[in-house]
Amino acid sequence: MSEVLARYDLDRVTIATLASHSSLQIFHGAKLEGFKTVAIVPRDRLWFYEQFRHLIDHFVVLNNWRELCNPEVVGRLHSLNAVLVPHGSYVEYVGLDCAEGIEVPIFGLRRLFRVEGDQWAKMDLLRRAGIPIPRLFSVGDDVDGPVIVKLPGAKGGRGYFIARSGEEVVRGVEERVREGLVKTPKDAIVQEYLIGVPIYIHYFHSPVLGRVEILGADIRYETNIDGLRRLTPDVIVELGLKPTFVVVGNIPLVLRESLLPKVLDYGIKFTEETRRALPPGIIGPFSLEGVIDDEANIRIFEFSGRIVAGTNLYVYGSPYSYLYWSEPMSMGRRIAREVRMAIEKDSLERVVT
Ligand code: AMP
Repeated sequence: MSEVLARYDLDRVTIATLASHSSLQIFHGAKLEGFKTVAIVPRDRLWFYEQFRHLIDHFVVLNNWRELCNPEVVGRLHSLNAVLVPHGSYVEYVGLDCAEGIEVPIFGLRRLFRVEGDQWAKMDLLRRAGIPIPRLFSVGDDVDGPVIVKLPGAKGGRGYFIARSGEEVVRGVEERVREGLVKTPKDAIVQEYLIGVPIYIHYFHSPVLGRVEILGADIRYETNIDGLRRLTPDVIVELGLKPTFVVVGNIPLVLRESLLPKVLDYGIKFTEETRRALPPGIIGPFSLEGVIDDEANIRIFEFSGRIVAGTNLYVYGSPYSYLYWSEPMSMGRRIAREVRMAIEKDSLERVVT
């Protein structure tokens, strides 16, 4: 990206993102830090984002997301001196090849997108980082105890299921292959189902300050798993109800302070492993998703190398971001602050790939 950056006017850098997911938070934060913003938006959503003109300076209108990598669009982003912020929907919308290959500076680690698309590589990265993970199985393996079967690229947990034996796993996956939810059984990953409470931790790695910050945490509200507790077990059994994991929204979470050292240690380990395996390593927001048991063990079953939607809870800052910054600091604003600090130190190349 250094060639592209060399042509940028660093006094006129803009913050661009796809108009979806956490974009309003990203635009809002960028404005607070004094940047002009660019919404990349499909034509049919334009009317909605036009309601937020006070947050958006430029619209790049597409007929569909896949046009992002068209040379005219990339040229327009260059002319706007845009730094592109990838969020949780970025790869899903534009496809992996465009997401990874786009010739626009990305705030974040673009090499991580491919790892994120491969459930096994993802878990391997966590393991190598020294972060505890659940036991993993393949479809067809003998399985003892409850497991959760996950389908790749599943939107918001759709099609996931819990099984108690190897045969149940195979039967469930075959059903989902027939329904077209997954291409081949090989694509599913089977994890030990962790018992405890799920937590979703929002981190930020700052190459400029050389530190990892815990910026927030949330609980995902998922249907129907979170609704089942409103029924007694006998009713669940009688009705033959099976848990599903479709995300509906997010609920704020403040952790016991005694858990924070471990939580931060995992964030630092993750950062270090990405630096070792995928230099220059993670830049900016990432999230670890895990389950805490009653002995305060935390095992991580998933990560995201980008801003997660749970950060939308904290547009005004979180109890943690306030401890670092003593001012309202959303993840969106934190991204813009990092870009601003990097520009001031004449080292924008340290925070983009
Ligand atoms: P994921 O797509 O990995 O974020 O998983 C979707 C949801 O499934 C999570 O938010 C959890 O509620 C649940 N889940 C995923 N993996 C596990 C696991 N290994 N143990 C328990 N629950 C899990």
